[in-house]
Amino acid sequence: MNDDLPDGGPAPGGAPPDPSVAANAGLSSESHEHPGTPEAFQGDSTAPTTAPSEGWSAPPAGDAATEQSDPGAVESPAAVEEPEPDTRRPLPRVMAIANQKGGVGKTTTAVNLGACLAELGYRTLVVDLDPQGNASTGLGINVRALEASMYDVLLDDTPLEDCLEASSVRNLFVAPASLDLAGAEIELVPAFSRELRLRHAIDSVKEDFDYVLIDCPPSLGLLTINAFAAATEVLVPIQCEYYALEGLGQLVRNVDLVKRNLNDALEISTIVLVMYDARTKLADQVADEVREHFGDKVCRQIVPRTVRLSEAPSFGQPIITFDPSSRGAIAYRQLAKEVSGGPS
Ligand code: ADP
Ligand code: MG
Repeated sequence: MNDDLPDGGPAPGGAPPDPSVAANAGLSSESHEHPGTPEAFQGDSTAPTTAPSEGWSAPPAGDAATEQSDPGAVESPAAVEEPEPDTRRPLPRVMAIANQKGGVGKTTTAVNLGACLAELGYRTLVVDLDPQGNASTGLGINVRALEASMYDVLLDDTPLEDCLEASSVRNLFVAPASLDLAGAEIELVPAFSRELRLRHAIDSVKEDFDYVLIDCPPSLGLLTINAFAAATEVLVPIQCEYYALEGLGQLVRNVDLVKRNLNDALEISTIVLVMYDARTKLADQVADEVREHFGDKVCRQIVPRTVRLSEAPSFGQPIITFDPSSRGAIAYRQLAKEVSGGPS
């Protein structure tokens, strides 16, 4: 479905990686505690008036008009909101972004949520576990020129640290995938501790990051099992369209299976509604249905369907650098605040 990426990596317009960031790839192991009282992360995720806190740049005023179709943009009751209690989970958080359907926004969410978490100051790693390598190319990595990739990590015991690439966004790193990863699904079958390879690899770098987001392939095979065994949380993007919930039973069962057999800590923690089209009633119905099903695991912030979000990957950029004031950029920024509980 997503074949429109260029062959040779990012277009010339793509920002070059920041060498100072590359130097950081050696990874410090400073701790990432949240000092002091957290900024109040106030409830209404779509109203920009509730958002600003240090380090967060508000969208330019001129963009306000483009936000009008934002779902659920209720007017905020004038001020006196109680600050919410700090519900932030301990860092580092390792999240598998999974849905066995293709084209539902897994990679778009991995890339853009990752970039926005990095912008909030969290050291973030996107692990590309899809042989298509879309998360890698979407973050400006030329997957044809890699010295090491996730294939080598999973099958040749290459240390994960050796395959990390810096992205053009400060604090954001990528463990890239290339097509050879397709073979891993089969080559892993006879391998020793085949389900735990990714967990061991991530364990070795985990303390250097606040967030590790694993972009899963559209299947529930061994690669996704590796992601579930390595993660403590599963984030499921759900498209606001017909059949959105179809097949999710299978995903829930697989998460359960891994939880019982390999990884007691695993849970589906986060559901993100994506590709929301405010013009269709159907999108609202699907959103309601998903909320009935998954309750408060469903993020308040919904990601709208916007052309800019689909254009950004072919420039090797996340939406926040490709079009910082677009609706997609605003949505993913708000989502990152909601998921993380605010700036680091
Ligand atoms: P997956 O990783 O689940 O296969 P992708 O993130 O690659 O899905 O998304 C599938 C296609 O839809 C891609 O071409 C992507 O650019 C596009 N897309 C994803 N999210 C949006 C969105 N919110 N608005 C418009 N296009 C989107
Ligand atoms: Mg994908």
